[in-house]
Amino acid sequence: MTALHDTDGAPVIIGGGLAGLMTALALAPQPVLLLTKAPLGFETSSMLAQGGIAASVGADDDASLHLADTLAAGDGLCDRAIAAAILAAAPVAIERLVRLGVAFDRDANGDIVLGLEAAHSRRRIVHAGGDASGRDIIRALARRVRETPSITVSEATIARRLIVDDNAVTGLLAYTDRGPVLLACDRVVIATGGIGGLFLHGTNPAGSFGQGLALAARAGAVMADLEFVQFHPTALDSRSSPLKLISEAVRGEGAVLIDENGDRFMADIPGAELAPRDIVARAVWRHMAAGHRVFLDARDVKGLDFARRFPAVTALCRDAGIDPVAQPIPVRSAAHYHMGGIMVDRSGRTSIDGLWACGEAACTGLHGANRLASNSLLEAAVCGDWVANDIAATTSIRRPMPALADEGTGSDPALVRPILSRATGVLRDGEGLRAAARALYPLAVSLQAASDPAIVGLMIAIAALRRQESRGAHARTDFPERAGPAKRSTLNLDDALQTARNCIAEPVA
Ligand SMILES: Cc1cc2nc3c(=O)[nH]c(=O)nc-3n(C[C@H](O)[C@H](O)[C@H](O)COP(=O)(O)OP(=O)(O)OC[C@H]3O[C@@H](n4cnc5c(N)ncnc54)[C@H](O)[C@@H]3O)c2cc1C
Repeated sequence: MTALHDTDGAPVIIGGGLAGLMTALALAPQPVLLLTKAPLGFETSSMLAQGGIAASVGADDDASLHLADTLAAGDGLCDRAIAAAILAAAPVAIERLVRLGVAFDRDANGDIVLGLEAAHSRRRIVHAGGDASGRDIIRALARRVRETPSITVSEATIARRLIVDDNAVTGLLAYTDRGPVLLACDRVVIATGGIGGLFLHGTNPAGSFGQGLALAARAGAVMADLEFVQFHPTALDSRSSPLKLISEAVRGEGAVLIDENGDRFMADIPGAELAPRDIVARAVWRHMAAGHRVFLDARDVKGLDFARRFPAVTALCRDAGIDPVAQPIPVRSAAHYHMGGIMVDRSGRTSIDGLWACGEAACTGLHGANRLASNSLLEAAVCGDWVANDIAATTSIRRPMPALADEGTGSDPALVRPILSRATGVLRDGEGLRAAARALYPLAVSLQAASDPAIVGLMIAIAALRRQESRGAHARTDFPERAGPAKRSTLNLDDALQTARNCIAEPVA
């Protein structure tokens, strides 16, 4: 039996990563209910972040330089005004995190140490615990959330359906370890993270398979730029799930990519192993698609004491039974970050009244066609704050909740992963995307556990099919060039389902 619970006007936040925690803390002392599938902070991409947070806090830096780097990575598709606003807010966000108890790494003078990452023109990566930034940030914020009496945390709770009437939120169906519960609420924030778990090979926690996107899509929300998925070129090719990252810095120190024959297959590509992330990801993908295995080889790098320079990478290789000093490291491209998501405005408002989104589940327009490294934690921190300010300025409007058919308990992406990995991986083409639409449609409209993941996968495939060009992280082998000026894409579920039906009706080539 479904229990009924009235939140008495308190907003509900779905997700306990950086975006959800920041939103909850910024709303205090206003009461909020925070739902999370796992224990607070766990099974989040936020916890896994290594590099840190990009912020123009160095003496030689400012927000306009950070903006220029972000726009260049975004390949013409960023929303310039939103990007400028988020990047300008970065220094204040760092100060706020410090006040909330995050101990960023500092030098002997007590100044924050700034790291340099690919495609950043200045040192601007604020980090904590060396390469354990996400862990340290989330531990500090989770502690603060638990100390805040206005925040009620409900762990082991899965948000399953938004209840919407006349384009406004009236409630939420969730599953807890005590059974289903119907929450009467009129303000909901989706902060459910990314979609890496929809792919066979990904770096996100396996539970990050776009449940928030499915909630919003079923409720009729507009999505944006869904086709843009960033793949990391060098995830450790092992049985672990999620796959662990082998940092770009290993290539920076001189490690090269080889195959099982010892051939250095990137040698003739401009920039070779140090080319931009998406070019390396494509080269690795192509080589594996041609039947090769790919390795990162640091054995012959002169003067490199690997274990001392890369203790974390050494440890994770050894866990997988590989000695990176004596052996080449097996690697592969893996789904890493979703630039697209639920379309939001500057306040994090979606196209549905009473529904906000922030963090990786949202699409603000900051990242455009490709994310600049370490801009995502920044976006989660800044936008969590902005969402909270906007919610605090709205009043709760209670509406009667319409009846909801029982929606079952499970959601399982296993059937979707092979389909989506084949069609919407690093390299795409129209034929493969239409085949994916035909395969995903029956799952999407079914009552199976694959239905929600299939809805998200189908929308990604349809967005990728419609973008007949290659731009940023979206590479079409049948449309290898950019097609004129950049245009952002939007899509809703009805539109995606109709396009899928058209694909099914077309004769198969
Ligand atoms: C290995 C790795 C390294 C990275 N390194 C960096 C970095 O150095 N710098 C950087 O800027 N970015 C980095 N990123 C990206 C960044 O970590 C993420 O974009 C960011 O943490 C997303 O935060 P979030 O709060 O939106 O989502 P998450 O941190 O993923 O949190 C999502 C939350 O939603 C919950 N949830 C999901 N669905 C439901 C549901 N239906 N019901 C209830 N709860 C639900 C989850 O349990 C979780 O608590 C990295 C990502 C990975 C995977």
